[in-house]
Amino acid sequence: MPDPLTIAGAAAAFKSTFDALRSAMGLLKDAKELLPSGDQRHQAISQALATAESSSKIAEAEIAKSLGFELCKCEFPPTPMLTVGELNGRPKTGPVYECPKCGFNTAGPFTYNRIAPERS
Ligand SMILES: [Zn+2]
Repeated sequence: MPDPLTIAGAAAAFKSTFDALRSAMGLLKDAKELLPSGDQRHQAISQALATAESSSKIAEAEIAKSLGFELCKCEFPPTPMLTVGELNGRPKTGPVYECPKCGFNTAGPFTYNRIAPERS
């Protein structure tokens, strides 16, 4: 059983890696906008970006799963679900996870105590 601090550290490291990757892809998008749309490089960058985006999402989902996150299957690649509250009951019966994309949560028919801000 890996200790929770190690998991949190790994998650933070992965997150900054993905943030860096996203900003690199953002720069590439900006560069693409500077080219006329008929330019072959415009097309090549679009294709490379689409592939990079989908591969990075799949990698992100795999890492999330290996760190123990639930995955929502509302789209592919899947979205890691985040803890938004705890189920009511005595004793507390466990966390409620929610998909940040579609809003599905694991509370089912049960009421839960929300600790995260409401979805906007
Ligand atoms: Zn979802």
